[in-house]
Amino acid sequence: MDPHRLFERPFRVAPYFSPRLWGTRDLRAWYPEHGTESEPIGEAWLTADRCHLWQHPDLTLAQWPGGFPLLTKFLFPHDKLSVQVHPNDAQAAAAGIGRGKTEMWYVVAADPGAQLGVDLAPGTTLEQLEKACEAGAGAELLNWFPVQAGDTVFVPAGTIHAIGAGMVLCEVQQQSDNTYRLDDFGRRDSQGRLRELHLKQGLAVARPQAGGGLQKTGLSSGESGLLVACAYFRVERRVWHGAYRPSAGRLRLLIPLQGEVRLQPAEGEPLMVPLAHAVVIPPTAGPVELQGTGVALEVTVPDPCDRRGA
Ligand SMILES: [Zn+2]
Repeated sequence: MDPHRLFERPFRVAPYFSPRLWGTRDLRAWYPEHGTESEPIGEAWLTADRCHLWQHPDLTLAQWPGGFPLLTKFLFPHDKLSVQVHPNDAQAAAAGIGRGKTEMWYVVAADPGAQLGVDLAPGTTLEQLEKACEAGAGAELLNWFPVQAGDTVFVPAGTIHAIGAGMVLCEVQQQSDNTYRLDDFGRRDSQGRLRELHLKQGLAVARPQAGGGLQKTGLSSGESGLLVACAYFRVERRVWHGAYRPSAGRLRLLIPLQGEVRLQPAEGEPLMVPLAHAVVIPPTAGPVELQGTGVALEVTVPDPCDRRGA
């Protein structure tokens, strides 16, 4: 069978767990099969190129015709992340490094006082940030704000940002690895090494006041609705009791945030999709139905970058 035929029907993706200095060793609340880990895990990649299809381990998303457009992740920061910035598509193309990276975060859980830093604090210049980063104090010049579960934050390419400790985020972003790290606070890994910084490249692509930050969605908790929409993705929170049928014809992802999703495709057996996993609904899938009760992020790829191929 042509492997691409397997991409024509809904399929569940196996997450890839990525160790990070700032991660957590205990993933049991999200992935019960993962007890305490030997290394801290920072990220579960739900739809990376290297993720394989749950029922077809020989097939990865890298084989999606034209490349899979969106990377989605769960992040588990136990310590703060570096101060960083991503290029946009034009800047990445000019540097010969592929796509840019616009991203969004949905706060799945947050300890009291957990904070995100998005954009420069009012009145701060890039020159001041450069000096602060050289001294390991770059984070102090960001615009920090407290977050709670249910908040949505938009981070367009060029927005300087940092993630604080004590939360769980679901991140939706362009499928790109292009990160310029501006300040890592002098942290060393278990081998005593510093991580590479890219201060000059990062400042060259930084765009203060590019429109990032906390999004006012007007949604109360437990309500379905739009969280954020841009040229690369449209992210909605979907809450259903009984049956819900997403509209067909677009590439769509569903990521359960509470409980397990039971998805009945047009033909065949239902797919069970656990918490913090992704199911891909290809544009060719025909009508599908979510059954039971659940909360999920529904991510739709808009037309211009719907890369389903031929
Ligand atoms: Zn980022």
